[in-house]
Amino acid sequence: MRYGFISDIHGNLEALTAILDDLQDRELDELVCLGDIVGYGPDPNACVELVQERARYVVLGNHDSAAIGKTTLEHFNLYARQAIEWTREIMNSDAYSYLSSLPLKIIIDAMTLVHATLQHPEEWNYLFNTQDAVENFKLLRTQMCYIGHSHVPVVFCKENERHWTVWDENISINPNVHYIINVGSVGQPRDADPRACYGIYDSEKAEFNIMRVPYEIAKVQEKMRKAGLPGYLIHRLFIGR
Ligand code: ZN
Repeated sequence: MRYGFISDIHGNLEALTAILDDLQDRELDELVCLGDIVGYGPDPNACVELVQERARYVVLGNHDSAAIGKTTLEHFNLYARQAIEWTREIMNSDAYSYLSSLPLKIIIDAMTLVHATLQHPEEWNYLFNTQDAVENFKLLRTQMCYIGHSHVPVVFCKENERHWTVWDENISINPNVHYIINVGSVGQPRDADPRACYGIYDSEKAEFNIMRVPYEIAKVQEKMRKAGLPGYLIHRLFIGR
């Protein structure tokens, strides 16, 4: 099986369509979305519609949850909050009911899917380093867990009692190792590479690869300007931070 993983699209339609175009010839069996379809970007409705159409497995992200009023805005910074308030105003009822239907966690085959962490997924904590991953590995019941949330692609590994972190974009999956894999962000990368990011897992080849796709950043920035979204959010797309 070949799985595609997209996460943290954040209303960035240009980045999402660039990735869906890139996926066309890659013979995927399933497309998985790890949440945060909306928030920050100018096209929440169109992004929700596309994800709903293309991805079979989709979990709820913190921005999705905030956009439907399920998560309060107290832990959001000023820019994120302004963007969520804007999103709430323009979101249509189809997008609202679709986001309302999303679960926090899904288990398929040998994989657990969650936006933030296995431990209290509804608290939206971050997994930044090996230490953060230790508690989550204790709760992992499948070989792999796929996550998003930090917008930085990274692979946490555990074999017996040994834990370590890998920053490589291409890894071989060892059957004796457990993995928590962050697939990066489609619509707002923060690893200093502004190109849209997604992941592919090939279970037969036992490989996971991070893919990068250029898209029309200036076009999204122009839409954000017209929508009156915060300047900081517009600028960061260009630098990928
Ligand atoms: Zn996000």
